Amino acid sequence: MAQMDSTFAKCGESEVSVTEKPDLLGMTLAETKAFVKNLGEAAFRGQQLYGWMQKGASFDEMTNLPLAFRKRLEAESTYRLPRILQKQVSKMDGTIKYLMGMIDGECVESVFMRYAHGNTVCVSCQAGCRMGCAFCASTLRGRSRDLTASEILGQIAVIGRDTGERVGGVVMMGIGEPLDNYDNTVRFLHLVSEKDGLNIGLRHISVSTCGLVPRIHCLAEEGLPITLSVSLHASDDAVRDRLMPVNKTYPIDSLLEACQYYFDKTGRRVSFEYTLIAGENDSLADAAALANRLRRGIHSPCHVNLILLNSVKETGFSAPGRERAKEFCAYLEKRGISATIRRKLGSDIDASCGQLRLNHIES
Ligand code: SAH
Repeated sequence: MAQMDSTFAKCGESEVSVTEKPDLLGMTLAETKAFVKNLGEAAFRGQQLYGWMQKGASFDEMTNLPLAFRKRLEAESTYRLPRILQKQVSKMDGTIKYLMGMIDGECVESVFMRYAHGNTVCVSCQAGCRMGCAFCASTLRGRSRDLTASEILGQIAVIGRDTGERVGGVVMMGIGEPLDNYDNTVRFLHLVSEKDGLNIGLRHISVSTCGLVPRIHCLAEEGLPITLSVSLHASDDAVRDRLMPVNKTYPIDSLLEACQYYFDKTGRRVSFEYTLIAGENDSLADAAALANRLRRGIHSPCHVNLILLNSVKETGFSAPGRERAKEFCAYLEKRGISATIRRKLGSDIDASCGQLRLNHIES
């Protein structure tokens, strides 16, 4: 296994910002009750407070809590509920893209998507990103900071409230690299699946990573039945080095080895994302090389999600036509690799992820 780059903290040693005051939304029901009890209130007040927070309510709206208690909470804790700064609604399929403001003025994007099997929210886990993928808008200005578990959870609570609809699934595919904010990501996964809370089943959650190999190993040990989604985007190290600098630290062989380990430990099929970029990775020879590499490297079931690049003007890359994506997909299937082309939701509001934030911080 490749050595962990020294710029990444080890699992359990994330630098992240817990605020000095207790972070209310980052608490489980049991922790909320204990906190409230410490303030001298009855445990049922903790239950009430917890219920309100999961619904994305402000202190002002928690009308069955005594005013003096709410004032005390306000003074003695932090409530990290994001605020909707901007909202774009697709007229085509009801997809909603949100720009969410955090309490310190940072902002991220979140997306609400409707599928036949239920509603899914795509959340961000960092303000910006330091992974440097060449085609991605989220990384253009680097990373400002990690989000806390409560700020990741808060995106879903706020969207549930705004839409009035149940959210049944989550994808960690917004801004940021979940495994570069490991502790908060794992904490978030526990919080979001709490039976008394949002109660979103871990089997309905995907965590997407650019391939921080040692962290994939850590995640495999957590015993969480989520889907691991790995952004591969190339089957050749020279090409992947160029598209995704993380590959220089953790090249493809080490990444596939980690994916195999993940399957062996969890029994969960790994899913690969492969964004098709014209002239970079989209030829049929690329499809053949991808099929060979996966067959050699992975001995368990896996799936390839083909994505047509969303063009980001700063990067200079463009997407191939839909026909090419179909040929690429058919080729993989012929070679026995399960593959689909990801349906594009909200094409009429199609700022690719990271662009709303970029426009906001540059305006
Ligand atoms: N950092 C994580 C998750 C965030 S990005 C990761 O790298 O997986 C979610 C997915 O969108 C990743 O597969 C990413 O490579 C892809 N992506 C980023 N920019 C894109 C773009 N302009 N067009 C298409 N896919 C893109």
